[in-house]
Amino acid sequence: MPAKKAKKVTKKAAKAVKYSYDFGQKTDGSSKLRELLGGKGANLAEMARIGLPVPPGFTITTDVCTYFYDNGRQYPKTLAKEVKASVAQIEKEVGKKLGAEKNPLLLSVRSGARESMPGMMDTILNLGLNDKTVKALAKESGNEAFAYDCYRRFIQMYGDVVMGVQAVNENDHCPFEGILEKLRAEVGVELDNELTAANLKELIKRYKAVIKKRTGTAFPQDAYEQLWGSVSAVFNSWQNERATLYRQKYGIPAAWGTAVNVQAMVFGNMGDTCATGVAFTRDPANGEKVFYGEYLINAQGEDVVAGIRTPNAIAQLKEEMPHAHADLEAVRKKLESHFKDMQDFEFTVEDGKLWMLQTRNGKRTGLAAVRIAVELVKEKLIDQKTALLKIPADSISSLLVAVFDPAAVAKAKVLTTGLPAGPGAASGKICFTAPDAEAVNAKGGRAILCRVETTPEDLRGMIAAEGILTSRGGVSSHAALVARQMNKVCVCGAAEVVINYGAETLTIGDQVFQNGDDISIDGTTGEIFAGAVATAPSEVDQVLNGKLKPADSYTFRMYDQVMKWADKHRKLGVRTNADSPDQATSAIAYGAQGIGLCRTEHMFFEGDRITFMRQMILAADEKQRRAALKKLLPFQRKDFTGLFKAMGGLPVTVRLLDPPLHEFLPHDESSKRELANSLGVDVDVISNRVHALHESNPMLGHRGCRLGISYPEITEMQARAIFEAAAACYKLKKPIKVIPEVMIPLVGFADELKNQVAVVHRVAAEVMEKKGIKFEYLVGTMIEVPRGALTADEIAETAEFFSFGTNDLTQTGLGMSRDDAGSFLGQYKELDILPQNPFASIDAAGVGQLVEIGVEKGRKTNKKIKLGVCGEHGGDPASIEFFHNVGLSYVSCSPPRVPVARLSAAQAALKAKAKK
Ligand code: PEP
Ligand code: MG
Repeated sequence: MPAKKAKKVTKKAAKAVKYSYDFGQKTDGSSKLRELLGGKGANLAEMARIGLPVPPGFTITTDVCTYFYDNGRQYPKTLAKEVKASVAQIEKEVGKKLGAEKNPLLLSVRSGARESMPGMMDTILNLGLNDKTVKALAKESGNEAFAYDCYRRFIQMYGDVVMGVQAVNENDHCPFEGILEKLRAEVGVELDNELTAANLKELIKRYKAVIKKRTGTAFPQDAYEQLWGSVSAVFNSWQNERATLYRQKYGIPAAWGTAVNVQAMVFGNMGDTCATGVAFTRDPANGEKVFYGEYLINAQGEDVVAGIRTPNAIAQLKEEMPHAHADLEAVRKKLESHFKDMQDFEFTVEDGKLWMLQTRNGKRTGLAAVRIAVELVKEKLIDQKTALLKIPADSISSLLVAVFDPAAVAKAKVLTTGLPAGPGAASGKICFTAPDAEAVNAKGGRAILCRVETTPEDLRGMIAAEGILTSRGGVSSHAALVARQMNKVCVCGAAEVVINYGAETLTIGDQVFQNGDDISIDGTTGEIFAGAVATAPSEVDQVLNGKLKPADSYTFRMYDQVMKWADKHRKLGVRTNADSPDQATSAIAYGAQGIGLCRTEHMFFEGDRITFMRQMILAADEKQRRAALKKLLPFQRKDFTGLFKAMGGLPVTVRLLDPPLHEFLPHDESSKRELANSLGVDVDVISNRVHALHESNPMLGHRGCRLGISYPEITEMQARAIFEAAAACYKLKKPIKVIPEVMIPLVGFADELKNQVAVVHRVAAEVMEKKGIKFEYLVGTMIEVPRGALTADEIAETAEFFSFGTNDLTQTGLGMSRDDAGSFLGQYKELDILPQNPFASIDAAGVGQLVEIGVEKGRKTNKKIKLGVCGEHGGDPASIEFFHNVGLSYVSCSPPRVPVARLSAAQAALKAKAKK
């Protein structure tokens, strides 16, 4: 749905607006100001408010970002003054001064959008250091190596992010990393923290030289120049390629903008009494209530997430820094009881003292989302309704994802184990780069993206891959964070995996794999297997199929709990689109309350049927056509009987033949010859008929009810099969009371429907008479062309139900081919013309309006009319909310989407109620 544009901040209005919000001893903001301060800024303010130890700072608002982009990357005039005052406030609180040669204040500058976008935007640390202040820091900390390490990190970040000194292409090294590596080799050390102050001074000299060489400008010494350079870099990074791609994937409007947080630095890298870490109040991979996280002693913030050193598990901190660990445990409790959700937070221990740098609702896998919501209710931190709203509806489907087949796993060899970071089972081809993973995916293959560690640059590859494997980095590394959010299978930090990008090999022990070889990873256990290991149904499916007892599956019990809550609150019915008893049975297990669409054309492709179907299409006259239809009748009757039995009396909507007839005919020469032989006709007969049936725009051609109008005998055969199947169900030993719903497709004129309804009624009467029973049935129509929606009042005089066919309604309403739109929709999304694919998520303003008109007009002439939807949108959470709001009575979707639809429907009802 189109994003609301953020209000434009004009130069004139700028004067009255406050642009900088302090936090610390003086706190202006709170978590209520998320839109203005971004998630990070709002929560820093909130943590300061509830008495948690937060280094003081200030947040430059998202309004400034909007202003920045609306005004040629300039700032509002009053901003500089506000920033000066905010810096002065920090100086007052910490007793240090920015740029001073004694007691210099150092700052961090970080982005912070309304929704967190991990690693997508830029960060600057240790700002305020220059050739003079570094000396002061060295003296005051009594640790020269620390001071120069901070300085070199600052130059590196600033040089990269603000001055653009970066790798020139994918194969190039980051120039700073190159220099660092070379120096390490020269002085013979392995780790950065083994470099001496003298080494670091040399490094700084080389860093400055490369900046001068690449940019022609010296690294700036003035602290305020550094500050504004950094603030601009963060605002600029809102529009960088990876942030833009991330926003597109997660539907974050560009107009929201980012805030910028400037904060006094605290140091986790000042020695062995210092540490830095990232923790979650619960396990983000499976939702278990355990303190989960990791830290590094003597390191600075980004080291943990960047995956450069594999950090220690948080439990170990209890041994190493018992006081800090106890403080963290207290913070963990306070955060959950205040924010009432699982938190993901960053902290630093400086000289034994704990500082909180960030907290946010933690990203989690679908499985964890469900578990956390269910358990928060048990712990009475939230109520049932809040829990339902907390679970992204799509995430329920991750409880239904495949696991490795136990028999196949028992035979497979575990090569090594990494950290389980994104649950599920995945197997696919080893790909070492994002473009490779994209290429495998584009060909319909499955890719496992294998990287030493992932960076935001790998995002495209992660989207395309089935699973992600890294050899370095912990459970909060970039790979793990992003994978969890995407619900991708992920194993990270598998230290025994050696990846050689140059040779395109992945080595585990003595086993060497090449690019394109099969590998399998289990994101629930962290195990890595050679080859493609077969997968098995999820625990939920196993319980639903009677292969596992509910008592033996906690996953199933959670799923069941959420579904029960959802059913209590939803108003919309949930049906399924199913054409076979198997599909129907699985949909019922998932909670479907009927079939909203049985596409009968799918029934004509099995076995002999296609031959009779082709005979029917090739018939020279009605007589021949009727003869072929007579052969099809028993098949259809059997299919419908099977479906009605599987549904056990639940409503079943059967749609009469819809696609253009040529779809059933062979198009290549050898198939035509084969058909000619089997029918005993000349191949020319086939060719001529295929030619005659050719249409320029078959989607707008001879299809839907137009077929039934041209060939009423087809409608007649299908209606007869439906009613005879119903009659058979009534006559079973254990009768099933079927009330079939016969649906006429592609109706745009009331008279089209009248024409077809007359045939259906006549056949129903004939069957009842012949079988000597009476049964109820309904006849209705699909609303899938704009004229049908606009004249719904006339159509509803005949129709007993409408089912909105939003696939065709989108196609015909937008004049956009559902088969061809892929070629330009990507660009439409990039340009924000269409924020979502309208064939996946309803175009509420356009196509949605046609649905609204159809509903309103339909009800005007037929108060009792049943209204549903059976296009793909019936399984999409945002569309389901829309359908709830326009007052449909049910949605129909594919079987595996049924649980998602049940939860979405409950969420829609709860949200609508909250708005009232
Ligand atoms: C539709 O058009 O939305 C629909 C359900 O029918 P089909 O996808 O079969 O055209
Ligand atoms: Mg259709």
